[in-house]
Amino acid sequence: MILKLIDKRKELKGITTFIFKPDKKIKWIAGQYLIYSLPHENSDLRGKQRFFTISSAPHQNFPSITTRIEKGASSFKNTLDKLKIGGVIYAKGPDGDFVLEKNSEQNIFIAGGIGITPFIAILRDLSFKKNPYKIKLLYANKNSSILFKKELDQLSFQNKNFEVEYFIGRRKLKKETVRQFISKKATFFVSGPDPMVADFEYYLRKNGVVDNRLKLDYFSGYKKI
Ligand SMILES: Cc1cc2nc3c(=O)[nH]c(=O)nc-3n(C[C@H](O)[C@H](O)[C@H](O)COP(=O)(O)OP(=O)(O)OC[C@H]3O[C@@H](n4cnc5c(N)ncnc54)[C@H](O)[C@@H]3O)c2cc1C
Repeated sequence: MILKLIDKRKELKGITTFIFKPDKKIKWIAGQYLIYSLPHENSDLRGKQRFFTISSAPHQNFPSITTRIEKGASSFKNTLDKLKIGGVIYAKGPDGDFVLEKNSEQNIFIAGGIGITPFIAILRDLSFKKNPYKIKLLYANKNSSILFKKELDQLSFQNKNFEVEYFIGRRKLKKETVRQFISKKATFFVSGPDPMVADFEYYLRKNGVVDNRLKLDYFSGYKKI
């Protein structure tokens, strides 16, 4: 499908949301991703294709990418950054099972930095549908510049079933903090930089969390929080 850029929003220093209008109606479940191709000259070795979560919720109609673009970014991201309103990118999908399951009574979301993108989509969706899923979000970030913090606080204020706790800087998100949530009823969702997701995957599996209670979104290319 062809996506036309209709808006860009600077979220924080180095983080932008790109909003697209698809050439045909697209249906997705909150938490899924698209696979994007962005033609450009002098591509680096990382190439012209990337996976990005759809950071908007389905009722918002327009899929969006929220990503970090900093000095030394890949040729893909530099091209995306320079894309003008009306410019196009190509996409396949949606795909992915990083979505809420109907029978899931307790959901523990573990986010590292930019790994918040699937969670914000899911939470926006739940707020729209007024679904009573129980969700605890444990959100780790390097510093106090926290993506979507205002919106998350507002969503939590409006919904007694959704709680958010931040782990910033030296207050790291420790395994012991996560341990207290392990139970047969809980489903764990972990999203963030590869090393962080790998750490939690190992820990959760070792502590008895089974396959169908564990969902993982590995964001390659980002360093440990
Ligand atoms: C299902 C899924 C969903 C995702 N959703 C998002 C999302 O919503 N937002 C988001 O920002 N990212 C998301 N990602 C990650 C995304 O696809 C990119 O891998 C990530 O943003 C890094 O982008 P980049 O490779 O363009 O490098 P940059 O972010 O530009 O990184 C800078 C430099 O890091 C180095 N680098 C990057 N990747 C690697 C690597 N794999 N190995 C070694 N060095 C590397 C390169 O030298 C690069 O120049 C998702 C990934 C998956 C699989």
